[in-house]
Amino acid sequence: MNCCSTGQSGVPVREAGLPVPEQKESLSFTASPGLPHRIFHGGACLSEFRRDPISGRRVIIAPQRSVRPAVGSGGGERRRPRPAYVKDCPFCAGNEQMTPPEVLALGRGGAAPDRAGWKVRVVPNLYPAVAAAPGGASPGRARASGYGVHEVLIETPAHNRQPGNFPPQQMALVVEACYRRGQALAENPALRYIQFYRNYRREAGASLEHPHSQLIALPFVPSELRRELERSQQHYLAGGRCPFCLVLEQESRLARRIVLQNDSFCAFIPYAARSPFETWVLPRRHRASFLESSVPERVSLAAVLEELLRMLAQALGDPPYNYYLHTAPLRSAPLPYYHWHLELHPRFGIAAGFELGSGVFINEIAPEEAARFIREKGKTDHEQSR
Ligand SMILES: [Zn+2]
Ligand SMILES: [Zn+2]
Ligand SMILES: [Zn+2]
Repeated sequence: MNCCSTGQSGVPVREAGLPVPEQKESLSFTASPGLPHRIFHGGACLSEFRRDPISGRRVIIAPQRSVRPAVGSGGGERRRPRPAYVKDCPFCAGNEQMTPPEVLALGRGGAAPDRAGWKVRVVPNLYPAVAAAPGGASPGRARASGYGVHEVLIETPAHNRQPGNFPPQQMALVVEACYRRGQALAENPALRYIQFYRNYRREAGASLEHPHSQLIALPFVPSELRRELERSQQHYLAGGRCPFCLVLEQESRLARRIVLQNDSFCAFIPYAARSPFETWVLPRRHRASFLESSVPERVSLAAVLEELLRMLAQALGDPPYNYYLHTAPLRSAPLPYYHWHLELHPRFGIAAGFELGSGVFINEIAPEEAARFIREKGKTDHEQSR
């Protein structure tokens, strides 16, 4: 890689100002004038500082445990068989009267709303974090009414089918429902950003068991996203390329951190993963917004997501997780520097004092090792027998 030089942290830096940690990882600590890139103890490498090339966020990779003790805790009571229908679950088919009137349903055909027969159903959240309040949006003020839209995407009529175990086509309907609600909400000029997200299991913040994801549309761009946009723009101005496109090219070439991929999407564990098995899913085609995705891309995303969640459940014992979409603010012009994506965090432990105080995360499993583990343990029986 003759386009690289050695940056201040010892990580090779591309001309664009984007650190490119591939291939030279093993050399990088020797040249570091500041923080040691790796910490040695008794001649053994115990931990390693890594910096995310896009956000600049530092993490400590401290592989002091093997993969096995850290995973596999996802069994227990949560894996008991569940019935397909639960009488008092507001999201089960047949219980439509227990939710506010639906705003979208897919798969029911022309039948009347708020009846059974749907495959995916979207309803306003009964206990919204934000609401369409009188007085409208005042995002510039320190204190403003919590204006926004909070909706639940009920992903299946069956109480006991989770993503990773969905019937064929079901995940494609879920992704399509996200897209259609996104398009509809984008027409509201008071809204600036839509956060799509999924919390799986109580440990990851889910209060109801029935498979669902959520969206919150806000009258402002949240700080996490704003930072990502700003950093991406800086990289773009310095080097003329979208930094996500560069990372995607690099991960594809290196292949060590890839979990799975298809023609349109690549799922990999990022170089500076904040937690074991943090996974990013990037579209190969550069677009800033999920709302610019094509129909084949959404079908393709659904296939990757369904398979990724199946692999994680199999390899890690059905862990709790969160995932969310990062996408351009609503009604942005096409942005050459930003690239929409999905970030997934299986939950093993919680961010504690050090992480909250410093913003530096300690990850106990090296991303390369984590990716290899998921690839091997997440294989289907059919693949394993080959
Ligand atoms: Zn249910
Ligand atoms: Zn890009
Ligand atoms: Zn992101």
